[in-house]
Amino acid sequence: MTNMRPTGAALMEKLVSLCKRRGFIFQSSEIYGGINGFWDYGPLGVELKNNLRDAWWDVMVRNPPPGPDGQELQIVGLDCSIISHPRVWEASGHVGGFSDPMQTCRTCKKLFRADHVDELLEEAEWRKALFDAVMEAPADPRKDLRRWAEGKGSKLAPGLPLVQNPAAALASLPTNVHGVPLFRVLLGAVSPCPNCGGELTEPRQFNLMFETHVGAVRDDESKAYLRPETAQGMFYNFKNVLDSSRVKVPFGIAQVGRSFRNEVTPRNYVFRSREFDQMELEWFCHPSEATKWYDFWRSERFRWWESLGLAGENLRLRDHETDELAHYAKDSGGCCDVEYAFPFSGEKGFSELEGVAYRSDFDLTQHSKTSGVKLDYFDQERNERYVPHVIEPAAGLTRGLLAVLCEAYTVDPSRPSPELMRFHPRLAPIKAGVFPLVAKDGLPEIAEALYKDIRRRVGPAQFDEKQSIGKRYARMDEAGTPFCITVDGNTKEDQTVTVRHRDTGEQSRLEIDAVIPYLRQRIGLE
Ligand SMILES: [Zn+2]
Repeated sequence: MTNMRPTGAALMEKLVSLCKRRGFIFQSSEIYGGINGFWDYGPLGVELKNNLRDAWWDVMVRNPPPGPDGQELQIVGLDCSIISHPRVWEASGHVGGFSDPMQTCRTCKKLFRADHVDELLEEAEWRKALFDAVMEAPADPRKDLRRWAEGKGSKLAPGLPLVQNPAAALASLPTNVHGVPLFRVLLGAVSPCPNCGGELTEPRQFNLMFETHVGAVRDDESKAYLRPETAQGMFYNFKNVLDSSRVKVPFGIAQVGRSFRNEVTPRNYVFRSREFDQMELEWFCHPSEATKWYDFWRSERFRWWESLGLAGENLRLRDHETDELAHYAKDSGGCCDVEYAFPFSGEKGFSELEGVAYRSDFDLTQHSKTSGVKLDYFDQERNERYVPHVIEPAAGLTRGLLAVLCEAYTVDPSRPSPELMRFHPRLAPIKAGVFPLVAKDGLPEIAEALYKDIRRRVGPAQFDEKQSIGKRYARMDEAGTPFCITVDGNTKEDQTVTVRHRDTGEQSRLEIDAVIPYLRQRIGLE
């Protein structure tokens, strides 16, 4: 049934188009030409995102799973400000070290993340065009290359040495290399600019935090940052939470919120954007129990993504190799990613959805040192004072939303809508469509009453009496609505309605009074 589903870039193109057409995701400030790396969530997108956020909050704060020994978990929530004291980011290492090596093009002045250059080069239009020209070249390619450099090349890659000075570049070509080796010679030893073929500078550091100023004076004293992660608010509030609530170690602090990173090359739709939402938990425990809790959260977090319908070959859990462990995890050991096979994941096949890291006492110790305030804990049961160790499951809400969209996207030409979104009923933005079969004989009145009842007691619903029933189903399938309920001529006689299931297209009769409990149960409200 899903064999018509495109893959890779073609799939992303279809998905982006459906998301815009149906109001899931819009480019930010589109009427002004958009702004790179920023996105807006439309009427369906905001419901979907909030549902994913609420599912996380519920399983983390309201109803956490039982712990490894069957004990009840204590997790409390926080909502911290986006701008905090700038020294927070000194303590966390973001001011000094939160930067990526960057390369600038000497010709077009574009900035690239050094570790993205190869991949961008692979996709560069001028590189593909040059490759084609080389492959077509006969025994002596010089003539064709000169023609390419003066024609297509001058438009696509004005910075490339071959284009700027064809005579010199071609003179240095050995006579006997063809095809791919020739192509390498043309590119030279260094990687050229993916945009224009020009020369890139050596990699330099570039800080990813957005800067702003607090107050009327714009000087170094007033400089502040938009948070690049939500985690630090949970560390600098550690003492406040201990003093104001009844939590005892082990316990967790959870937060969902916006974070900002001035990504140099935002790409892959909302996956790498400059403004995004995170869902993070900091779990504080005794150092001797850290490994046990790390193992617990590692499997628990994977299970949660599975429970939202991401199960199967597109989801995996990957432990980090020793050489990719972050500074804080080096000695303690333990960092893994829940990964999803996004259509753009390319050769690696998978990209990060959530990271689970054993951060040891790194963060609390850093904030203690920088602020001069002791951030430790007196454990009455153990009669011991210590700095708790931390396990951090940090998930991307925006990335989760994209994974859910990719997983749900289905192509089935045999249906009224050849494209449909198979969301988990709990995440679906609209829970039910309610239709009178015809707009007369009192059917609209019955349907409208049912629709209002569903909105009040189940969740977002849509009433639709326009066009054929097939077209109405199609609209709901594209929006990912799991159930459609039709009031027809029999309803007045036997008080039953038709329930149509999105995934199978199957229909069954149900008493009208049974509709609400039926939906509540399937959506997971009961
Ligand atoms: Zn360039």
